[in-house]
Amino acid sequence: MSTDIADIAVKGGVLVNSQGLGKSDIFIKNGVVDSIETGKSKRSADKIIDAAGKFVFPGIIDAHMHPVYADRIDTLSQAAVHGGITTLIPFIGAIKAWGKTGDLFDALNDFIAEGEQNSIVDFGIHCSLCHDDLETIDTVLPKIVERGAISFKGFMAFSKRGMKLEDDEHMKLMELIAKNGALYAVHAENGTVVDYLQDRFIAQGNHGPEFYAPSQPNIAEADAVFRILSLAQVIECPMYLVHLSAYESLEVVRLFKKWGAPTLYTETCTHYLTLTDEEMKKRGSLAKVGPPLRMKRDVEEMWQAVSDGLIDVIGSDTAGHLIKAKEPLMEQVFKAPSGIPGQEEMFTITYDEGINKGRITLPRLVELFCENPARIFGLYPQKGVIQKGADADIVIFDPTAPHTIRAKNLHLKVDYSMYEGRKCLGAPALVMQRGKILMKKGELKVDPGRGRYLPGNL
Ligand SMILES: [Zn+2]
Repeated sequence: MSTDIADIAVKGGVLVNSQGLGKSDIFIKNGVVDSIETGKSKRSADKIIDAAGKFVFPGIIDAHMHPVYADRIDTLSQAAVHGGITTLIPFIGAIKAWGKTGDLFDALNDFIAEGEQNSIVDFGIHCSLCHDDLETIDTVLPKIVERGAISFKGFMAFSKRGMKLEDDEHMKLMELIAKNGALYAVHAENGTVVDYLQDRFIAQGNHGPEFYAPSQPNIAEADAVFRILSLAQVIECPMYLVHLSAYESLEVVRLFKKWGAPTLYTETCTHYLTLTDEEMKKRGSLAKVGPPLRMKRDVEEMWQAVSDGLIDVIGSDTAGHLIKAKEPLMEQVFKAPSGIPGQEEMFTITYDEGINKGRITLPRLVELFCENPARIFGLYPQKGVIQKGADADIVIFDPTAPHTIRAKNLHLKVDYSMYEGRKCLGAPALVMQRGKILMKKGELKVDPGRGRYLPGNL
């Protein structure tokens, strides 16, 4: 047991890691966890933070967001901190519609520079692949992996946006990704089905929000999951399925796990655990996200999968647009921009629905939001756990704090919340990264540029 004076001690809280929970004091030195002590500790510290009556979680990781629409990494990272998130892993890409000109390696380096200048929190990076990347990917991908971006996302839908890749293109990429020890993330929806249905609805004059979910049906997702996992099995490529939303997809994942799939990770998002297609009827295009919000049955089955371990990660998939960008197209759902906000609300909403309603345990919550994303994306044990030697990324969470979600109190530029007016119990009271307090009682304590790029370890 260490007796020298620590920089900071977080005392009297209930420490929650994925393996369990218990009352502990955490001593921090030089930005990392130096010792964890239970019972009466003799160790002193320059600064004591009282966490009595609170939970102490590892910093939350949001492994899915897009810093290219209304919000970039500056405001995303501010919102993150208020929501207890200390690590972001955004998707970047050399996508012309996002104003990019160079190749994917250039896009990666540009984003690292932007993040190091503007981000408040530490960040990793995933790369989104579009059709244009294929020409140079053989030489570009190894350089990207070398630089520490180790996950790549390909799309099975959205041919009109130049994103859809064909089966043989996915396989070629899988071979390259597997050879370089990286991970292939896939947006799994059958794009042919989606395009066909959308074109048909449009031709029939059916533009309203009620036609959005029917244009991207559950089975189009489950079909794509089946196909991409078949291809991955042939190539033996490690896979990460982003934003699963349909209960049929969970059945397919179960089947492939039974068949002994190679490495396979799964993600869902807060909105697939908390919202249904009803939002589309109430809020029009403001609720447009891909895959669409589903039915109550999907939500309940998704919670079951989150609880029993079939789902590994919960992300926010924040890709928000201002009301004024969506409003003129409120009743023109197929033309409206896709994507919803939700990053800041991600953890507190999931906590409220998961813990307060007794659907999952606290250690499981930490596994989903901290340990699993850290392990999958090569950041463990620096991130994702509170243990000796880990970065002192800590969320002191007050389970008794009631609050009502109001967009005007949130920190993204996006000016609405999918959870407006919703009452929650439990909120982060203090958020720390590498031993430095980022947020205390709703007040931001640091300036942009503190965030560090986190290369993933293979
Ligand atoms: Zn996304």
